[in-house]
Amino acid sequence: MGTLSAFIASERETLVLGIAALSLMVITYSVAGARTMIAGARRRLQLDADAQKALRFVIEFENSGRGWFWETNAQGTLSYVSQQLAEDFACEPAALLGRQFTDLLSVDGSSEGPLREERTLGFHLSARFPFSDVVVRPASAEDIHWSLSGNPIFDEHGRFLGFRGIGTDLTEQRRSEQEISRLARFDSLTGLPNRALMRQTLDEALRNATSRQKGCTLFLIDLDRFKNVNDTLGHPIGDALLRQVAQRLTSVMGDHGQVGRLGGDEFKAVLPGAVETGLLESLARTLIEQVSRPYSIEGHRVTIGASVGIAIGDPGRCNADSLVRDADLALYAAKAAGRGKHMFYEASMHSEAAERQMLENDLRQVLERDELWVAYQPIVRTAGEEVCGFEALLRWKHPSRGAISPDKFIPIAEECGMIGKIGQWVLRAALAEAANWPDHIRIAVNLSPIQFNDPGIIDVIAGALKDFEVRAERLELELTEGVFLAEGDATDETFARLKNLGVRLALDDFGTGYSSMRYLKKAPFDKIKIDQSFVRGAASSDNRNGAIIRAIVTLAESLDMDTTAEGVETHDDLHLIRELGVSQVQGYIFGRPVPCEEARAIAMATHVEADGFQSTREPRHRLMRRAIAGINGERREIRLRNISAMGAQVDCDEAVTPGQSLTIDIVGVGPVVGTVRWAQAGKFGVQFTDQFDLARLAPKQAPTGQPSPSPWHLGQNRRAS
Ligand code: C2E
Ligand code: CA
Ligand code: CA
Repeated sequence: MGTLSAFIASERETLVLGIAALSLMVITYSVAGARTMIAGARRRLQLDADAQKALRFVIEFENSGRGWFWETNAQGTLSYVSQQLAEDFACEPAALLGRQFTDLLSVDGSSEGPLREERTLGFHLSARFPFSDVVVRPASAEDIHWSLSGNPIFDEHGRFLGFRGIGTDLTEQRRSEQEISRLARFDSLTGLPNRALMRQTLDEALRNATSRQKGCTLFLIDLDRFKNVNDTLGHPIGDALLRQVAQRLTSVMGDHGQVGRLGGDEFKAVLPGAVETGLLESLARTLIEQVSRPYSIEGHRVTIGASVGIAIGDPGRCNADSLVRDADLALYAAKAAGRGKHMFYEASMHSEAAERQMLENDLRQVLERDELWVAYQPIVRTAGEEVCGFEALLRWKHPSRGAISPDKFIPIAEECGMIGKIGQWVLRAALAEAANWPDHIRIAVNLSPIQFNDPGIIDVIAGALKDFEVRAERLELELTEGVFLAEGDATDETFARLKNLGVRLALDDFGTGYSSMRYLKKAPFDKIKIDQSFVRGAASSDNRNGAIIRAIVTLAESLDMDTTAEGVETHDDLHLIRELGVSQVQGYIFGRPVPCEEARAIAMATHVEADGFQSTREPRHRLMRRAIAGINGERREIRLRNISAMGAQVDCDEAVTPGQSLTIDIVGVGPVVGTVRWAQAGKFGVQFTDQFDLARLAPKQAPTGQPSPSPWHLGQNRRAS
């Protein structure tokens, strides 16, 4: 450029100036161009950097697992997907490119929500509207949920290019939401619906009952003695037990209803449409039966029971609250009836509940008010008929209601926590009394399972024996099978410590419990008390009680235990009891429970060879009747006494054998045919083949013409309690 200027300057100056100006322009232009170039390069670099940065953001976002990107073209086919999205379909991203985005989404409609949302998504995509947080399910096998957001892209001319957006995986979040709602509605221990869900179920069932004009039934199920298990074997065993109970309940209930757990040891079942009492009754019975079967938990054998309260709701005439209240009262009544039972609600239960509450209040003050006393019922040796002991039976003389049965108030005392105090009072009263009796006469005291399981019981007993100076061997504690229900180390230990004290142990009400034989062999009992339900009427030929008693006696003998038959009221039964070899008898036939003064007289009398006690039976001696019997081929004169419609006791010196049949010709009455049931030196018992009409014994010339069988019948002249 310098050479050119010098040449022009030599030619013409203006040209030089022009050129100079032009050059200046060129230079200026060049500089500006260079600047622009530099700025462009810079911009490109910046864009590049931005793109890099954006890419890093994308990668980081995709790698974070918090979401992914997607892009479609104008036709709705995928032009970009993140790796993570492809993973939900177990393929590479490339495999998804070119597919319709909506094809990837599930439209099976199995769950209402997503289907609705998928429609929303379809609408937005075709309308080219932006959308955010639309929940959809991909069309993959897994139960996955996505949340999608997207924006339509347009070019500068407004042409639609496709959608670009992000997606996030909601699966985890959904799962935890579901888990939370499950926890809020289901019991975590058993997996059964909880109180809240059961209430909802009941409400729905009742609503449904109204519209379908069908009833609905509610069961309230409460476990008996569960607390015992929890207290003695610990909560983990208690929990395992509840799980097994839940399974049994559910399997019994089947399709009839929904079982749920209300908490603790309370369960509930809603039975929509089921109102037929026969069905409900059999269901309740099976429930109780199944729950009462023994459980095996971590090497422990556990037995509990169940009580069921049932309330039936009529369509349209019942609300959930009142149905629950009714079932509650029915459950209450079932428990009061001795547990292991079911009860249907009855209107009278409302007043019963109120009465029970009053009894409970009064019971709390019973000791301070001195309203309790102890009655004593003799226990008699079967062979010699001498008194060998007394059972102490608690009595409550209520100031306004009069005598209240222990069957009624003992369970209340057990439930309201009073049994410990009351039981201790009985024990001390009984020992104080026994101290007055001849030393060979024992005193039996009932011990509630709650007392047995109280760790302080040994000290209480030892203290009382010492205070009243009664030999431990004279005290017999009557326990029911209830003490085994939470069988564990504590139970074994209590047994060992009681034996160590030297007291005797009797198993009460035998035959009414569950697993008697097993426990019998294990626990150190000295005696079995055969329950009244087997004894009473055992002599009548139409039941198997005799066989059962025989089995119990055989078992007891093999274990070196005594037996007492409870509730013997008639001579027939006494005969049979004798024949079966039961060692002792307790029943009205030998005396009802009496106050201590009378008991003392009986105790003293037996000391002088049972004469005093025998005297209470004197009227029967006086009514002895002569008869002729064909025995061993010979006619013998015999004396009949204690005759009843079923049989008689016979005084006779001739030896007879049980099973032998004979005809007895009662003087002035006529012949009666019977079979020998038992035989002892000088006497035997005979059971008549046909019922004997006692009226035949009445004097022929009875002035009123009325037959008067009573002098011959049993239970006359008995002491009243
Ligand atoms: P249990 O231990 O089975 O007592 C025997 C019950 O049978 C007594 O009823 C007695 O009066 C009755 N009995 C005896 N012989 C006959 C008979 O020949 N015929 C009939 N029909 N009944 C007979 P009670 O005195 O009403 O006692 C009922 C239950 O109350 C007792 O049954 C026992 O489980 C409980 N009980 C009584 N006193 C106490 C106590 O001090 N502590 C505890 N924990 N329970 C007690
Ligand atoms: Ca008893
Ligand atoms: Ca008993």
